[in-house]
Amino acid sequence: MNKVFLKPNREKSLLKRHPWVYSGAIARVEGDCQNGSVVEVYSNCGKFLALAAISQKSQLALRVWSFDQACIINEDFFFNRLEKAYFLRRQLHIDQQNSAWRLCASEADALPGVTIDVYNRFAVVQLTSAGADFQKENIVSALQRLYPWQGIYERSDVSVRKYEQLPETCGVLAGSAPPELLQVNENDRKFYVDVLHGHKSGFYCDQRESRSMVQQHAQGKSVLNLFCYTGGFGVAAALGGAEYVINVDSSAPALEMAAKNFALNNIDQARYSNINADCFSFLRKCRGEKRTFDLIVLDPPKLVDSMRNMTKGCRAYKDAMLQSFYLLKPGGLLFTFSCSGLVTRELFAKIAADAACDAACDCRIIGELGQGPDHPVSCNFPEARYLKGLMIMSCN
Ligand code: SAH
Repeated sequence: MNKVFLKPNREKSLLKRHPWVYSGAIARVEGDCQNGSVVEVYSNCGKFLALAAISQKSQLALRVWSFDQACIINEDFFFNRLEKAYFLRRQLHIDQQNSAWRLCASEADALPGVTIDVYNRFAVVQLTSAGADFQKENIVSALQRLYPWQGIYERSDVSVRKYEQLPETCGVLAGSAPPELLQVNENDRKFYVDVLHGHKSGFYCDQRESRSMVQQHAQGKSVLNLFCYTGGFGVAAALGGAEYVINVDSSAPALEMAAKNFALNNIDQARYSNINADCFSFLRKCRGEKRTFDLIVLDPPKLVDSMRNMTKGCRAYKDAMLQSFYLLKPGGLLFTFSCSGLVTRELFAKIAADAACDAACDCRIIGELGQGPDHPVSCNFPEARYLKGLMIMSCN
């Protein structure tokens, strides 16, 4: 096996079991490594540190598979890791009331670059690193041993693959292809998921718990669901007894699916409308018309995707919150989210506070929200906590 030696004093994070090594920490690579292959990682003075996948073209050059030198990275290895991940979800009974959930959350399940979502009896795999891609056959065989899937489908059509010198790819890996529309349930909510074309693997199952919170607080309320995608929060609000729900998104296919999802849950057409618009403009239009709402959900896409975009993205979060506070009735609730991992909880709370202040909204944070337990955070990899949310009540 090829060996990689780190520069002096660059082994600290690995000793703390953090699974990443940046290219700048590498002193030398012995031999010719195939992109994604397994290497032994040593400190500068020759102490074994980890078995990792190498991605020489990426800034994130090494991702650890195991800290045990005796470990063999084969199908059994992936089976054992996936079995652990599956066990965790079963212990939490996630699969009992939900047929859409995350089986494997990459680093958080000790499988860097491997994300697997489950929709009924279909597994949807996304491989984002050269190391994960290199192990594709082992991963798929291990996954097949874990459960009798009807099909395993790959949705590795994500732009981060370019940093790993990997092309974007989609298709059936085993069994049959998922149908165009899969019907899943999330507690008492039903949704259609388009695994083949939808965002991510088709659905944002990371918002399950927050949708339940919205459902609990929606009785009798007028609801504005911004960046609604396929209507997840809107359906939750309507099932929770909301008087009226307005869903807004700039994607026509997402709104078509939202309409299907409202019908699937038997929600009367008179209780909602779906609006194809840019949310930032829509918010301003509402302010101009002096419209107000009892409950607003603000769940934009990742607005900070790199440190370079930090200021611009934070400004956009603030603008969306500022405009939302303007529309919030006294006593109203704002559910505001950020899925940008680079935006910390503290920073997000500060942005919310600044927006509330500018909007002259006297408000209280009454709850903190985040990704569900099928998107766990491993203690040695805090970066896995990417989704954060605040439940804010206006006390004006
Ligand atoms: N809340 C959703 C997930 C939101 S994903 C759920 O629970 O399922 C983000 C959504 O924002 C996408 O559907 C995307 O089409 C939409 N979007 C991105 N930029 C937008 C903009 N400027 N105005 C309106 N919608 C936008």
